[in-house]
Amino acid sequence: VKKSNDYSYHSYSSSNGFSSFTSHFLEEEMRAAIAREEFELHYQPKVGTTGKLLGGEALIRWNHPKFGRVSPGEFIPFAEENHLINEIGDWVIQTVCRQLGEWRDKGFALYPISINISPMRFMKKGLVELIEKNLDTFQIPAELIVLEITESTLLKNEKVVIKTLEKLGKLGIKIAIDDFGTGYASLTYLKEFQADILKIDQSFIRNLGNNRQKDNAIVSSICHMGKALGMTVVAEGVEEQEQLELLAEFFCDEIQGYLFSKPLPAAGFEKVLGDGRLQ
Ligand code: C2E
Ligand code: CA
Ligand code: CA
Ligand code: CA
Repeated sequence: VKKSNDYSYHSYSSSNGFSSFTSHFLEEEMRAAIAREEFELHYQPKVGTTGKLLGGEALIRWNHPKFGRVSPGEFIPFAEENHLINEIGDWVIQTVCRQLGEWRDKGFALYPISINISPMRFMKKGLVELIEKNLDTFQIPAELIVLEITESTLLKNEKVVIKTLEKLGKLGIKIAIDDFGTGYASLTYLKEFQADILKIDQSFIRNLGNNRQKDNAIVSSICHMGKALGMTVVAEGVEEQEQLELLAEFFCDEIQGYLFSKPLPAAGFEKVLGDGRLQ
């Protein structure tokens, strides 16, 4: 099911009219972008319901010299089709580990950073080894890395997924199920796969409100279920005070959204690290 109001799906695929010339051009530009250092990571704070900093999510930005800022909602789905997502994914993992090392060297207390892992990158051999290598190079404890995967990853070869999750768990890497509630058979997955964190999709959070009994009931139930399963529950896309108050009532563990902060460039996130809280 494609949801036009969700960033990661609000995009073209090769089948809906993106001409081959344009897609070839985009592919070449993307290939060059890593070498030209046009990609950048922004970090969006995750906080407790009282504003205490609990972590961050790394979100990629592409600053193209001519086209300006290209949204990941546009180029990530395309990169997934042409396999460039593997290179981009590897760059993200390395950049997060290097950044954590830099913050540590500057004396900041560190918080877990979440990395989005596309289904294709997750299934490719060597993910665990690549992460281990980077943790080792930059001397970062595994506990500081969270991998955000979506239900589409869990739809892949079950044995491989379970094995990889096991290896990551043994290392001490935490797993978050992103965009929870938007895919199929969510509840089965929670039973089959070991995950630590449940991220309630923005589409549910957007509709939270005092006169919205159904949406409130759904979010409240997800919070309750996640916690009963021993998971940390995160709400993303929190923009309004009213939503925050309801999430606090539901004992939601972590809040991410414009209400507290947009994704920030590394220097901006560093200031938040220094304060240890928002607002
Ligand atoms: P996502 O993983 O679901 O990330 C959350 C998106 O919601 C981000 O959009 C974030 O900026 C946005 N957001 C956060 N708080 C709010 C809010 O309060 N209101 C609204 N309206 N939006 C909010 P962004 O950065 O444009 O990323 C879009 C998607 O692109 C991500 O969705 C993720 O699927 C993908 N993506 C981003 N960075 C990476 C990456 O490094 N690797 C991979 N594989 N995918 C990435
Ligand atoms: Ca999404
Ligand atoms: Ca995410
Ligand atoms: Ca999400």
